[in-house]
Amino acid sequence: MIVLILQMLLKEYRHHFALSLADQYPRSEINNFFRRLTHFYFNWDPSFPVLEPNHRLSNIELDQLNEALEALKKYQPLQYILKEAYFYGSNFYVDSHVLIPRPETEELVEWVLRDHPKIHMEDFNVLEIGTGSGCIAVSLAKAQAGFRVAALDVSKAALEVAQKNAELHQAKVDFFHLDMTTLNSWKKPLDIVISNPPYVHPEERTEMSANVLDYEPHLALFTPEKDPLYFYRKIMTFAQKSLKIGGLVYLEINPKFQQTLELLINEYSFKDIEVRSDIFGKNRMLKAVKL
Ligand code: GLN
Repeated sequence: MIVLILQMLLKEYRHHFALSLADQYPRSEINNFFRRLTHFYFNWDPSFPVLEPNHRLSNIELDQLNEALEALKKYQPLQYILKEAYFYGSNFYVDSHVLIPRPETEELVEWVLRDHPKIHMEDFNVLEIGTGSGCIAVSLAKAQAGFRVAALDVSKAALEVAQKNAELHQAKVDFFHLDMTTLNSWKKPLDIVISNPPYVHPEERTEMSANVLDYEPHLALFTPEKDPLYFYRKIMTFAQKSLKIGGLVYLEINPKFQQTLELLINEYSFKDIEVRSDIFGKNRMLKAVKL
């Protein structure tokens, strides 16, 4: 049996790979896994398995693919297996200390950048609260040289990932190991506060898939049981103190709590609340202007 596996041809392995995951994932996703893995590990073009079905897999290739296959069987997200996730035109390093960047969050970044095509000021200060992988802060710093970007996170391990991504993308971001729940004010008055805080209520667990629930950091996902707006209250209290007049807060939000969040924001000195939906049609982002 072992001899058979060692001599496996690419077409045979592909069949084995697809069959092993058939009960767990749709066919199209399995094909995508295979393409992504073989491109990442061996730099194979997607057409390689079609053109070279009789390629004999080396032991190294087999081991690498088998390791990934075992992880996929356990519902480990592909991004954690590859330690790489795509966000806003670039690849970011990710591991299980940080949330995998979502396409919705790219739209939040896009919103900020469209609002600020040109920066005319010397000191335009942007702060991201709860940066995780750093994908928001790094993308903003990269795309708009006029932004002075700082970012904080309560998790040291997450900050190491974010720092790595800033270096990878040669983006200048100042990182701080700080807890948003005890954050008071900021040394420099801010022009933008942006955050994608934990916003999933523990009761929503039942709607979540194993690849999220079993692998992504709960610290970055879940709100306290009794207070789904807990982190937004902390962010708004801080933003009220630290934003300049006319400064902006951009938030990723849970569509389920959009209305209560708007009521909450109305308790602070902000105006012109605007909510936008994401590509999936869900109300996912909110902007407000400091009075
Ligand atoms: N959008 C993420 C999810 O659905 C949650 C992100 C967050 O809590 N900020 O899993």
